[in-house]
Amino acid sequence: MNIILLGPPGAGKGTQAGRLVDERDMVQLSTGDMLREARTSGTEMGRRVAEVMARGDLVTDEIVIGLIEEKLASGGASGGYIFDGFPRTLAQADALGELLTRHGASLDAVIELQVNDEVLVERILNRAKEAAAAGQPVRADDNAESLRQRLLEYYKKTSPLIGYYYAKGLLRGVDGLGEIDTVAQEISAALDG
Ligand code: AMP
Repeated sequence: MNIILLGPPGAGKGTQAGRLVDERDMVQLSTGDMLREARTSGTEMGRRVAEVMARGDLVTDEIVIGLIEEKLASGGASGGYIFDGFPRTLAQADALGELLTRHGASLDAVIELQVNDEVLVERILNRAKEAAAAGQPVRADDNAESLRQRLLEYYKKTSPLIGYYYAKGLLRGVDGLGEIDTVAQEISAALDG
């Protein structure tokens, strides 16, 4: 089964992807994680990506599609893929469809994690505070200004994917505001139902 976790920053995509990895032997493909890794590569591309991410803007379609293409080519996902934070634009969504077709695969479901914007902002700023209090690194884009920009990018460029996947009959809405376990159960029900 190949699925997308869709939702604004802070909706819990990464957390829920982790659960699906444990429970269903799926492979998580997070473009955010891949880009954070690329950022530390010391290359010119890494430096440019770091700047774009810190501002809360989206990196180019070309870069993220290339990252996903590489991962799909290396294979190894017996339980299927969870796309986390990808696609984020309609061009990325089209590219993903083509890539999966090329690998003889397809998309089974798109889980939209629905959350309220005020809760989101609180969650992300708390994530930064908790990390700082525990002496852990704080994400460079977990501050109020970048967060506003990330939300804006989500509504301008990513939210049209809700209609896109609805029209394809793949969209399943899940209330993302509950406890982690409750949300995980709802996702399971949406996938198995
Ligand atoms: P995330 O960890 O998914 O919140 O992503 C962190 C940042 O990485 C985003 O704010 C973007 O700057 C960048 N990013 C991650 N995934 C994508 C994507 N699919 N398209 C463009 N930029 C992305």
